[in-house]
Amino acid sequence: FPAVMPRPIQALIHTDALTHNLQRCRQAAGESKVWAVVKANAYGHGIERAYEGLRGADGFALLDLAEAERIRALGWRGPILLLEGVFDPRDLELCSRLGLWHTIHSDEQLDMLAGHKTLQPHKVFLKLNSGMQRLGFAPERLRAAYARLQALPQVDDIGLMTHFATADVAVPGLDAAWQVFQTATAELPGERSVCNSAALLRHPQLAEQTDWVRPGIALYGSSPDFPEYGIAHWDLQPTMSLRSELISVRELQPGDSVGYGAIFTAERPMRIGVVACGYADGYPRVAPTGTPVLVAGHRSRTLGRVSMDMLAVDLSTESTGIPADLDVGVGTEVTLWGRSSCGKVLPIDEVAASAGTLGYELMCALAQRVPVEVT
Ligand code: PLP
Repeated sequence: FPAVMPRPIQALIHTDALTHNLQRCRQAAGESKVWAVVKANAYGHGIERAYEGLRGADGFALLDLAEAERIRALGWRGPILLLEGVFDPRDLELCSRLGLWHTIHSDEQLDMLAGHKTLQPHKVFLKLNSGMQRLGFAPERLRAAYARLQALPQVDDIGLMTHFATADVAVPGLDAAWQVFQTATAELPGERSVCNSAALLRHPQLAEQTDWVRPGIALYGSSPDFPEYGIAHWDLQPTMSLRSELISVRELQPGDSVGYGAIFTAERPMRIGVVACGYADGYPRVAPTGTPVLVAGHRSRTLGRVSMDMLAVDLSTESTGIPADLDVGVGTEVTLWGRSSCGKVLPIDEVAASAGTLGYELMCALAQRVPVEVT
């Protein structure tokens, strides 16, 4: 059989951009150490690929023991923190074998750890609920949990952490949560960690007062507080680019409609292109007409409904940034997000906002079937 040619769609992971973003986080963090958050397969980038760009971090933070194993398999000997700790006693042994630090956020986890007297002494991070109401001990219960941990021979160091609910928006909640953390942990010995990307970039003074920061999304070139600020404001670079090509070009007459449901109808003669990218590639089906794309590096917009394997884009020069003299045809590059091959940037945040979601979700949803290249 002849070799099967893949569909002309590709995701690119930019190692140098990951390293740049890590450096930006490091600058904001000052003396504080940086955990690169690589949960959810490094926010859809792939742990092994992301590791290439993020190996300069002081540690890695994630959820999944299998992902921790993958980082160790890459040769990482430094700290790894399990952000949600362990949920099954059998995992404590693997955790111990891999030399992981784990979060303790509930009585159940405390009991589980207390029941495992044979574990090697190791470090844990005690988590405070500072208002998110997901995980963590209530402020008035933190000291009792700390005392229980101190008494366990299998614990040789206790860190203290919390996760803010509102670091990305301008509300007084963050100050209140920080006060709750400071009061609840006052005079307890141990390293402290409170900052996600938004807290780190918007409130670097919190990083200065703590020992570890935990940026995720900023490392992956998405702004933690878009649309208030974009990646250019924070000097972050896209780390994932989704690129495809036009596989069909057509002329519409007034009254012609595009795609399923006929939800976009041309009001004048216009050229459109069909792109080999659909929701089965991870592009959001809910993205409405007008969602930005780059055609040969020029800004354009989607038209009509996104289908499983295709979407339509506007090629008319009247309503896009495509110059009239540009030769746009089958095979022309279309960048769905990230960086075009000629270096133009379409932040993933703009596409996500148009689809009513966040860069986080789009990255994590990149489909398995999309071939990935590391640049
Ligand atoms: N710390 C914890 C406990 C988290 O759950 C997360 C992610 O949700 C992060 C840090 C990283 O957050 P972000 O990606 O917003 O920087």
